[in-house]
Amino acid sequence: MKVSKFPIFTLKDVPSEAEVISHKLMIKSGMIRKLSSGQYSWLPIGFRVIKKVEDIIRDELKKIGCSEISMPYVQPAELWQESERWDQYGPELLRFSDRHKRDFCLGPTFEEVITDLVRKDVSSYKQLPINLFQISTKFRDEIRPRFGVMRAREFIMKDAYSFHESQLCLDQTYEVYKEAYKNIFKNLMLEFTIVDADSGNIGGNESNEFHVIADTGEDDLLLDDNLDGMNIEIAKIKYGEDNLSSLIKKTGMKHRKGIEVGHIFKLGQKYSEKMNAKITTKDSKSINMFMGCYGIGVTRIVAAAIEQLHDQEGIKWPKSIAPFNTAIIEIDGNKNPQVRSHSQTIYELLNKNGIENIYDDREANLGKKIKDWELIGIPNILIIGKMESEKNIVSYKPRSSKDKSEISIDDICQKLM
Ligand code: ATP
Ligand code: MG
Repeated sequence: MKVSKFPIFTLKDVPSEAEVISHKLMIKSGMIRKLSSGQYSWLPIGFRVIKKVEDIIRDELKKIGCSEISMPYVQPAELWQESERWDQYGPELLRFSDRHKRDFCLGPTFEEVITDLVRKDVSSYKQLPINLFQISTKFRDEIRPRFGVMRAREFIMKDAYSFHESQLCLDQTYEVYKEAYKNIFKNLMLEFTIVDADSGNIGGNESNEFHVIADTGEDDLLLDDNLDGMNIEIAKIKYGEDNLSSLIKKTGMKHRKGIEVGHIFKLGQKYSEKMNAKITTKDSKSINMFMGCYGIGVTRIVAAAIEQLHDQEGIKWPKSIAPFNTAIIEIDGNKNPQVRSHSQTIYELLNKNGIENIYDDREANLGKKIKDWELIGIPNILIIGKMESEKNIVSYKPRSSKDKSEISIDDICQKLM
C-alpha cells in the first residue's frame, strides 16, 4: 500500500473533550472521527485494526465449531415483549416505530432474535448442540457515552450463542468458550484476566468477564500475582466486606484496574422458557433448551490495547493487530529518482514476502514522516534516503527503540517477520 492511495489523517492537536489517552491517540493518529455523541466513523488505518481483531476472534470461534451468521439489527418489539425485556431493559434500548406504527428497537444484544431464529428450525435433541456467532454493530443509548469508542452508543460486538439439550452440555461448552477466549486474548498479545462476574441485564446464573489490564480501566478488580481473581462487586458479596482496604487485607490480593472486553454467560433456560423454545429429548419429553451467550467488544478492544500499549510518541501496536507490520519512509523520493527506485524495490520485496507494509511516498520531510508512523504505532520503520540507495541497504528503526541500524537487502525480510 502507498500513502498516495491509502490516505492517512494524522493531526497535530486533539479536541479537548478527549479525556483518556486511547481516545486522544485514536483521533490524533487518524483512526476515528466523531459523528455525534458516542458515534464514530473509522478511517482506513483504524478500520484495518478492527479487521485484524475480528479475524483473530473469527479464527478461534471457527476452531471450536461456531458458525458465523448475520442478523438484522433493527429488532421487532414483539420479541422483547415475549422475553419481558421490553419493560426491563430501560432507556439504553433505543425504541422507535415504523410507518405502520409498529414498535422496534436497535439491537443492543441478540438473545431474543437468536432464540426466535433457533426455535423455528430446531425441534429435536438430534439437532443440538448449535453454536452461532455474528460480528456486528450494536446500539446502546448509554447515559454518558465517554472515552471515545470505549463506551460508545454504536459499537461493534462479537456475540455468540449456544443451544443445548442439557445443563451438562452447556457447562462443558461454556468451558470450551472460556478456553477459546483465552486463546483470542493471547493471540491479540494483550495482558488480560478472567474474573467471576455479575450477569447484569442479560441474566442467567453463571458468568465470567475478560478484562484487559490498564490503569485507566473503569472496573475495579481484586487480583493475585498470577492475575487471577474477581470483580470487586463479587468480592464484596463473597467476603461480606464493603471496604476496599479491608478486602485487600482479607484476601491478600491487589487492587487492579481493568477494561471489560468480553463477557460470557450461562443463560440456562431463561430465554427458552419465556420464548417457548422447546425440543424433544431422546426419551420423548418436551423441554426448554439450555443456552449460553458469549460477547466480545471488538471496538473496545482496539481502545483497550492502546490504553495498555503506548508511550510519549504514540501507539505501540502489538504485531497481532498493527495496521501494518512495516512503514517504508523515503526521503525526497520525488526529487531523487535513485531513492524512489530503491524504495520501490524494497516495497516490492516486502509485498512478495507477504510483509504487510505502507510505503510513505508523500512529499514531506523525514521528521514529519517518522513522527506520523510512530504516532500510528507501526512496529517497524524502514528509512530510505540517498545514502541507503547508494549503499543498497535500508536503515531500520523498530517502534520499541530509539536506535537505528543499517541492514542489507538480504536480511530485511527476516528482520521484519
Ligand atoms: P459495561 O459493563 O462496560 O457497560 P456490559 O456488561 O453492559 O458492559 P455486555 O452486555 O457484557 O456489556 O456486552 C459484551 C461486551 O460488549 C462487553 O464486554 C464490552 O466489551 C462491549 N461493550 C458493551 N457496551 C459497550 C459500549 N457502550 N461501547 C463499547 N463496547 C461495549
Ligand atoms: Mg458485561
